[in-house]
Amino acid sequence: MGTHMVDSLMTTYNRLPITFLRGEGARLWDDQGRSYLDAIAGIAVCGLGHAHPEIRDALCDQAGTLLHTSNIYGIAYQEKLGDKLCEMASMDRVFFANSGAEANEAAIKIARLHGNKKGVRNPAIIVMDQSFHGRTLATLTATGSRKVQAGFEPLVQGFIRVPYDDIEAITEIANNSNNVVAVLVEPIQGEGGINIPDGDYLNRIREICDENDWLMMLDEIQTGIGRTGRMFSHQHNDILPDVMTLAKGLGNGVPIGACLARGAAAEMFSPGKHGSTFGGNPLACRVALTVLEQIESHQLAARAAQLGERMRNGFQSKLGEQQGVVSIRVSGLMIGIELDRPCFELVTRALDQGILINVTADKIVRLLPPLIISDAECEEIIDKVSALVLGYL
Ligand SMILES: *Cc1c(COP(=O)(O)O)cnc(C)c1O
Repeated sequence: MGTHMVDSLMTTYNRLPITFLRGEGARLWDDQGRSYLDAIAGIAVCGLGHAHPEIRDALCDQAGTLLHTSNIYGIAYQEKLGDKLCEMASMDRVFFANSGAEANEAAIKIARLHGNKKGVRNPAIIVMDQSFHGRTLATLTATGSRKVQAGFEPLVQGFIRVPYDDIEAITEIANNSNNVVAVLVEPIQGEGGINIPDGDYLNRIREICDENDWLMMLDEIQTGIGRTGRMFSHQHNDILPDVMTLAKGLGNGVPIGACLARGAAAEMFSPGKHGSTFGGNPLACRVALTVLEQIESHQLAARAAQLGERMRNGFQSKLGEQQGVVSIRVSGLMIGIELDRPCFELVTRALDQGILINVTADKIVRLLPPLIISDAECEEIIDKVSALVLGYL
């Protein structure tokens, strides 16, 4: 393994002592030539795996044609991608950014404009405990983690926090406040620990938002693009949000974020209200369009649902009765195994076993493998991760 204490980089990450040089499908190779099974996919980014031939071809061809002009001109691939996303999500319009945090910034600005239009003087957005929405000042304020916020005060005003999966808490605010303009929520909390709410939670939020003229804003940055067994996670419910944000899996590694909106929320921005130099450039949009086409034509969302059931059954039979395993939470290829103790050490033990996993919220083993894994790779993940957990407890 190489050296990793590089002094020129700001220490925003505790990096693991490993450097990958190449990948193919769900496999990665490090600078010592060792191979690893990737069960985290760059944190839900590389849904199509590594070095996907169609993505490579789209990238290379576009790089040899046109990388960037500007949003002051028409951009054909941006329009195509916008049409495609709106059609898939039954939304009306989209704004393209370069990351998840930026997509959420656009959503937060839409909520503020929605409030402004209604004459609400100090508009507030309801957000959740243990949520994660990004690292810009507004999105870290929306994030439900003191660790993410500490030291960056004063935080942005206009957020009200409630417990996740608690409809009563939202109802109470609806009955007692008149300045709320939106709810921002993840359909399943990713960084917060693969927290899957009650099946009716999103339906109830939809009702409350309708009753109060609030925007329902879903952060699908981690759950979207086939990850949970549907193209977008809220499609497990029979609802549409007013605003939805995407990023991670949309570009398979090429940076892109998107904020989609429907109805009045789609009409909030007028020229000069928002923008981005890079957002929606021909390269990122062409790649994202290719990602969506691949996921659709190979029915990878349905495949994620099928593999998720395999994971659920596999982990349940190997770990379900095990002392120290608190719960096993699965939605498609978004998997959390909660232990009764901190388990960061499992990440390095997994590296020794040739598999990449992640631990979030201290005690939760998180798996977000590429959607293209084979049945054999699925079994390998179940076997190796189960053995690691059993050896740790
Ligand atoms: C990763 C993530 C973000 C932030 O995305 P960045 O591209 O890192 O800014 C926001 N929300 C959720 C749910 C995420 O998982």
